[in-house]
Amino acid sequence: MQLELVSIDLSNYCSKACTFCYNQSNAKGVAQWQPNEVISFALDCAANGVKAFSLGGGEPFEYAGIFEVISALTPHLFVSITSNGLPLIDKKIFDKLISHKPNKIHVSIHNPSDKEELRRSLFLVRKIAKFGIKAGLNFLVSNQQIESAKYASMWLYRNGILSNQIIFIPIKGKYAPSTKQLAEVAGTEQFQSTFCLTECKPSARFCSVSYDKKVNYCSYSKSKETMTSLDYSGLINALQNIKTFAPCY
Ligand code: SF4
Repeated sequence: MQLELVSIDLSNYCSKACTFCYNQSNAKGVAQWQPNEVISFALDCAANGVKAFSLGGGEPFEYAGIFEVISALTPHLFVSITSNGLPLIDKKIFDKLISHKPNKIHVSIHNPSDKEELRRSLFLVRKIAKFGIKAGLNFLVSNQQIESAKYASMWLYRNGILSNQIIFIPIKGKYAPSTKQLAEVAGTEQFQSTFCLTECKPSARFCSVSYDKKVNYCSYSKSKETMTSLDYSGLINALQNIKTFAPCY
């Protein structure tokens, strides 16, 4: 197995506290990963061939030490971040982001009927891109909002967002859209989505590390194994201890 991309949930703290959050992040969440632990773990992964690290959460820009982590990782790894965008409205945080410069930021759209969320996300993507950071959107799609999601994606395209800047993410559970509905929202047969859209199976190149230092091949999987040590070998040992790859649905 040669992992290329590792996704890590820095914490389960997020003041937005969405009811559908896959790791139940909330305003009482904690950071079990300390910044120095994240840095030494990521650099050991890089030394063992991992090419990219994706920082999520919890809300990464509400994680103390986020900029320290970005600065330490970017010389060695492609660093991408997924954010709900709210903290980036604060000029001080945005200015710090620009001076630390991760490689890519995706802003999440959770509710396509929320015009303010759409406008804010578009504004942030444009603003981030101006500073030479690859910017895009993670667009959450539910089967309850197909028409408003179609309208929202067309509105984004009309405002200059390219289809390759949007990842259409199907919500899990009873409101999960079909692949056909997802394509309708994207407005095209070819679109970016989660790699498990067509088939749920472990990837040889990707794994997900949770805020409580557990591992599986998928961020949504309900069965996760604890890392035996906070380094690349601890990660691989945990993956090898996974007996069954329990799907998320
Ligand atoms: S904004 Fe993202 S991390 Fe925060 S609670 Fe909502 S889904 Fe979870």
